[in-house]
Amino acid sequence: MAAFDECDVLIVGLGPVGAALAALLVDAGVSVIAIDRDTEIYPMPRAVHLDHEIMRILQQLGVAEQVRRNARELPAYEFRAADGQLLMCLDPPAQTPSGWAAGYMFHQPSLERALRDVLAGSPLADVRLGCAFERLTQDAEGVTAEIRDADGPATIRANYLVGCDGGSSAVRAATGGRLFDYQFDEPWLVVDVKVLPGARTPDVNLQICDPARPTTCVLSGPGRHRWEFMLLPGEAVDAMLADEVIQSLIAPWDCGPVEIERRAVYRFHGLVAETWRQQRVLLAGDAAHQTPPFAGQGMCSGLRDAANLAWKLAAVLRDGADETLLDTYQAEREPHTRALIELAIGMGRVVCALDPAAAAARDAEMLARRAAGAPPLPPIRPAPFATGCILAGSPGAGGMFPQPTAGEGVRRLRLDDALGGGAWLITRAPAPVSARGVEVVCVQDDLIAPFRAGVLAWLEAQDAPAVLVRPDRYVFGTGEPAALLAAWDRALAPLQRAA
Ligand SMILES: Cc1cc2nc3c(=O)[nH]c(=O)nc-3n(C[C@H](O)[C@H](O)[C@H](O)COP(=O)(O)OP(=O)(O)OC[C@H]3O[C@@H](n4cnc5c(N)ncnc54)[C@H](O)[C@@H]3O)c2cc1C
Repeated sequence: MAAFDECDVLIVGLGPVGAALAALLVDAGVSVIAIDRDTEIYPMPRAVHLDHEIMRILQQLGVAEQVRRNARELPAYEFRAADGQLLMCLDPPAQTPSGWAAGYMFHQPSLERALRDVLAGSPLADVRLGCAFERLTQDAEGVTAEIRDADGPATIRANYLVGCDGGSSAVRAATGGRLFDYQFDEPWLVVDVKVLPGARTPDVNLQICDPARPTTCVLSGPGRHRWEFMLLPGEAVDAMLADEVIQSLIAPWDCGPVEIERRAVYRFHGLVAETWRQQRVLLAGDAAHQTPPFAGQGMCSGLRDAANLAWKLAAVLRDGADETLLDTYQAEREPHTRALIELAIGMGRVVCALDPAAAAARDAEMLARRAAGAPPLPPIRPAPFATGCILAGSPGAGGMFPQPTAGEGVRRLRLDDALGGGAWLITRAPAPVSARGVEVVCVQDDLIAPFRAGVLAWLEAQDAPAVLVRPDRYVFGTGEPAALLAAWDRALAPLQRAA
């Protein structure tokens, strides 16, 4: 790890999103100063679920196997009535486009530690803990941040600043950012336990839709479990955090010996910042959007932000791409983020019903849907970008490019590892084309041999001679190889090329 006075990108906030963004940027050759006002990783209970696409991002950072070893595969997600009847069951899909299992139940501080370890090994990263952001000014060349650490006030100069400083983002406040509010606001007590020998915790994730006490019970990393209890009107936060109250809430589960590890009361809400970029200042993660956790997607959305933004910042800073590329960040990410927030709020409205009559009507409707064989929910899949840095109209553009795998277990091979970072042009027939920063491969090349069938099947499904895959593994477009490279070149530097 290095120490700089200036950098390409200043990241404010070293939660999972700031740490992932920093790691992706240094991987792309961009220098980073990452500051956090705290000296330790946030200790309170938060994310326990991450999905397959996030594992693909972690794979790029070299920590996916480490995270997988400290996680459990996503089990079924059951919504049950107060009397135990099954209202809805979401089974994880067996296949995903990312080459990983549908999801994983994990321990957030362990993931954050793994990401910080990546930064500790990089000469391009300067991590400063106990260092709080206070104010910023920006001009045509860069951003000056006023910060404060143990030595007092100081400034950091950067080309860009990204606020990854969580829900109460001071960076968002400094840019006058307003929030769209979905008007969902429910207080929940969250309790993480260590599972002791002899304990019998459930092996599925559960929402107990009991109007007397809506309750969530889900797996966490190995040896850990999570309960969430909705606070009822009039219940005081401090009283609910008491040991004896928590013990009395867990007791009916009859799960044997568990040790309370962490507890907190949160207000679950849905918020989206109106503007994610103001000139040289950008927002990512909870600073840009917050969701109730019922779909387990808050951090996942933030890591998708990081993957989307990192290669664009690198293209602007390192490869001379035009700054307008950064405007595609919100255009691409906001619709997907909103779709997941709306899904989570929909789940929350099902779960949080406190009126017994309304809960009974909900149960009857869900049981009828189930009896009729209606699908419980649409799959959580990112819809292809309708706009952004894509060759709009070409088949497959804006969707996630699949990651075929070969082999099993620890010897499983994955396409991304074979082709490496950066953009790829994959052609069906050998093509005499090249471009700086783009790996050109033909499906007939040995490099791609273990994954040939999967890649070819995708190209055939689009009826495309070639695909250009962006560094975040979303499809820029399909078409003839030379035309694709020309379109990619124009997309990255529209103003210079037009001049
Ligand atoms: C109960 C609960 C359950 C959840 N479950 C899931 C789940 O299963 N799956 C999922 O994907 N998500 C889940 N989430 C959401 C997830 O935890 C958050 O979305 C995620 O932590 C956000 O990451 P972040 O890096 O954007 O922000 P944070 O994790 O909040 O990190 C922000 C960082 O910025 C620092 N900071 C703040 N202000 C300053 C400043 N002025 N100067 C310097 N540093 C500053 C803070 O110290 C902190 O380290 C859950 C959340 C809760 C509350």
